[in-house]
Amino acid sequence: MADINIGSAKEKLASKGFLDIAVSPELDLFFEIEKLKKEKNAVILAHYYQESDIQDVADFLGDSLALAQAAAKTTADLIVFAGVHFMAETAKILNPDKKVVLPDLKAGCSLADSAPGYLFKEFKEKYPDHLVISYINCSAEVKALSDIICTSSNAEKIIQSVPAGQKIIFAPDRNLGAYLMKKTGRDMVLWNGACMVHEIFSLEKITKLKIRHPKAKLIAHPECEEPILRIADFIGSTTGLLNYTKTDDSSEYIVATETGILHQMQLASPGKTFIPAPPDNNCACNDCPHMKLNTLEKLYLCMKYEQPELLMDLDLMVAARKPIERMLQLS
Ligand code: SF4
Repeated sequence: MADINIGSAKEKLASKGFLDIAVSPELDLFFEIEKLKKEKNAVILAHYYQESDIQDVADFLGDSLALAQAAAKTTADLIVFAGVHFMAETAKILNPDKKVVLPDLKAGCSLADSAPGYLFKEFKEKYPDHLVISYINCSAEVKALSDIICTSSNAEKIIQSVPAGQKIIFAPDRNLGAYLMKKTGRDMVLWNGACMVHEIFSLEKITKLKIRHPKAKLIAHPECEEPILRIADFIGSTTGLLNYTKTDDSSEYIVATETGILHQMQLASPGKTFIPAPPDNNCACNDCPHMKLNTLEKLYLCMKYEQPELLMDLDLMVAARKPIERMLQLS
């Protein structure tokens, strides 16, 4: 049951993760959000996997790399981060003096959760002569234990920048790590983590879909499992996939990544057809349940009341900032 009272909603914030306040369906949220942006000198950074209404009100829309770059450059006083927790953490680490709010504190990430900081520390200690490259989809604790952060857009370039004889640990995504080992020819020690969304695609159903749509190209994110990547016509980061569909001359695509990106693909290429790759069962598991915890109502409320705010330990922010800055320099 939604509250009508801000005091009571704030008291329940820790347990709920968001301000549970009823928003009138008559309120024009698009107008109100634009008004709040101006009043508060706020910027909305949103990930491609957000629902389309959130994508439409965003000032910057992008994948993890673009959002980290936008966060590093922003002059706004209030950063409203519509994505998952580790992304808002990255924005806060790059802007320790600014207020960062997010629609729902409980918007986590199965991949980031697959590498708890204390276990990763023990793992790293077994390989003292290895350099740690971590995918940005990890907690601030894991970032603080890393030497360089990467995203799927720049991972290959970052690995290639490391001298050939230097041993590497790659964390936390084993599928992306295995794909990068093939691409770069580097042997890396992989942390055994994965994204629940990108591991759900069914090879059998995609193969049947390809038979029904013989002209459709399969495009896949490198977090997908190897059998899917093996049959893909193109593999790329979220932005890489979007750009590919803009310039490639096919008219039909089967898209093996989170479904949120289909909104931008369709806007950029209205004459083309985009089919979400089918998951292993009949659920909508290729919708990230964490990303989709954010709604336009929660976004409006977090801007209006500036809650929930992302708060972090200062020492942790300092330690996690170094490998992110190294990535931004190399990008
Ligand atoms: S799609 Fe996967 S990696 Fe991205 S936020 Fe969701 S669970 Fe995490």
